[in-house]
Amino acid sequence: MKTLGVLGGMSWESTVTYYQLLNRGVRERLGGLHSAPLLLHSVDFAQIAAQQKAGEWASAGQVLAEAARGLEGAGATALLLATNTMHKVAAAIEEAVDIPLLHIGDAVGRALQERGIERVALLGTRFTMQEAFYRERLEQRYGIQVLLPAAEAMAEIDRVIFQELCLGRFLPGARSFYLDQLALLKAQGSQAAILGCTEIGLLLDGCDSPLPLVDSTERHVAMGLEWMLGV
Ligand code: GLU
Repeated sequence: MKTLGVLGGMSWESTVTYYQLLNRGVRERLGGLHSAPLLLHSVDFAQIAAQQKAGEWASAGQVLAEAARGLEGAGATALLLATNTMHKVAAAIEEAVDIPLLHIGDAVGRALQERGIERVALLGTRFTMQEAFYRERLEQRYGIQVLLPAAEAMAEIDRVIFQELCLGRFLPGARSFYLDQLALLKAQGSQAAILGCTEIGLLLDGCDSPLPLVDSTERHVAMGLEWMLGV
């Protein structure tokens, strides 16, 4: 197996899921006591979130680039950046290392393509939903049209992520709000929905969703497993 580096902590609530799913995936495929050879650099999310809010993306990119260099030096053969939002600075990380960054947008784009989905709803932070870096990758590389919630709903979805989900609070009010948004997006023609924030799967786990869900965390982990195991 190839050793994988994980850039986590954004938030650590979802990094726990990455760690569990990567290890479970290896056990399912190889059996017995097999587990995933991983290196984790988990950041202090308060610093990154403050940089996001202040628009200091270059500084945040440098923090992650430095962490990526550390993982490469410690023996990682590829990297998973365990957040959708911080893929806004994917280029800074890619420039800092000689190992590949397994891009979460490609993991999601391929899953949508495999399922023949052409029009998809996107839920994530306001950065992921409103800025071009994520949507354009799906549109330009995979020919997928992205539908977004209304402006006020996007603000609430973002608030829930930073004030609840990233703090480990998974509340019924947020769950029903998210499911209502998915129903509205279905009525507007979405064929499926991307859970484009790595904590949303924790909120909607086990829910009866009006749309088929493509969970970015699960798809990203699958990409990491493919890299590690070569299958
Ligand atoms: N984990 C989230 C994501 O996938 C949000 C936290 C962050 O801003 O990185 O976008």
